[in-house]
Amino acid sequence: MPRFQAPRGTRDLLPQERSAFLRLEGLARELATRYGFQPIETPLFEQAAVYERGVGEITDVVEKELFRVQAGRGEDERERWALRPEPTAGIVRAYIQHGMRTWSQPVRLTLSGPMFRYDRPQAGRYRQFWQFDVEAIGDAGPAIDAEIIELALEFFSAAGLRDVQLLLNSIGDQACRPAYIEALRAHFGAHAAALPELEQARLETNPLRLLDSKDERMAPLIATAPVMTDHLCAACRVHFEALLAHLDALAIEARLSPRLVRGLDYYTRTAFEFYRLGAEGQQQALGGGGRYDGLVEVLGGQPTPGIGFGIGLDRVVLALAEQDGAPSAEPWKPVVVVVGADPEDTVIRLRVASQLRSAGLDCWPDVSTRRLGKQLEGAAKAGAHFAVICGDELEAGIVQLKDLEAGTQRQVAASDLARELLRAQAQHRHGEEG
Ligand code: AMP
Repeated sequence: MPRFQAPRGTRDLLPQERSAFLRLEGLARELATRYGFQPIETPLFEQAAVYERGVGEITDVVEKELFRVQAGRGEDERERWALRPEPTAGIVRAYIQHGMRTWSQPVRLTLSGPMFRYDRPQAGRYRQFWQFDVEAIGDAGPAIDAEIIELALEFFSAAGLRDVQLLLNSIGDQACRPAYIEALRAHFGAHAAALPELEQARLETNPLRLLDSKDERMAPLIATAPVMTDHLCAACRVHFEALLAHLDALAIEARLSPRLVRGLDYYTRTAFEFYRLGAEGQQQALGGGGRYDGLVEVLGGQPTPGIGFGIGLDRVVLALAEQDGAPSAEPWKPVVVVVGADPEDTVIRLRVASQLRSAGLDCWPDVSTRRLGKQLEGAAKAGAHFAVICGDELEAGIVQLKDLEAGTQRQVAASDLARELLRAQAQHRHGEEG
């Protein structure tokens, strides 16, 4: 076993898998742009308090999964850092810091990148994972809620993932949630002695969290718990019903899921998750999101509504592989490798490769001083379609073009070479898209 390995719960994305991620990130960027969301990048770490306050102290993400970073002397509040477990709190921190409330509202932002949670690693659950995230800050909905949900569903569809189900709930607001939380406390309190230890503590501190407990012993109690939708105040009910009407108008089917609460504290009203059909019970959401009308204020800004979602790219890649029985993207292969008849003459290969790249070809030269036969073997192993063989004839304006796939070889005028190869490359790219 090698001495050093990627840390537990992380993995290297080797070229084939990385290509699958890049394809999804590309789709995400395109789609977000089409919906008017602009790219933002925030630091991979923030003051820990951004998450403690933003996500909530009594949540799995902060209590158990926050990746705290020891930096500096750690005495000063400003030196307590944590790697970002999710993007919303950092984006909202940036919204406040840069005075985005003076911009045209809602501010539509998107980010794709790695998140970190010190979770127990298992299939589809990593300590570093990637999210495609979208946030619309400064609009109370419900139309924007429906638009954001449509965008998420469009992403799954563009990625080629079928049978994605939308689970939807309203989790109320400051006006109606307290009474609901008391109802939950009464329900679970009647079984307090039977609750696992962590859940017993949460019964006191944050009973809402009991609804997304990962402990299997909780399932029967959760199934009989009171539901928020029976406790919504008039304003929250109107919002929820209007959201359903907007979704209906967009022909989006939602499965009402009255015990869906999401793992983070900052959500209000709209809460949703996406699952593959039949995989709802497996804690393997493809993505989720919701409205967070209190978050900007919690982080020190003016009261400002917001809504967003995060889609787990790792899980989308896994789901696609499961659905199609094959990786969802091929690794990049060179169309052309430039090889040379004279093992020592690497200059000629560099020069020809450089010219071909200037003409728009994907290619590299064999930079070794091995014999021609070995160079050709290397080109074939790398998956190149063509090898351009440079030799003395180049002085007379001629090279040999070897089709490694067909096993044929012919002479080509150096002046025609780029044009011929570009045609082949276009066919390659076309073939990959189809
Ligand atoms: P959450 O904010 O926890 O709902 O996360 C949003 C999405 O990110 C989830 O639906 C998953 O697709 C993905 N996700 C969350 N945690 C992990 C993890 N530990 N490993 C892989 N993907 C994750």
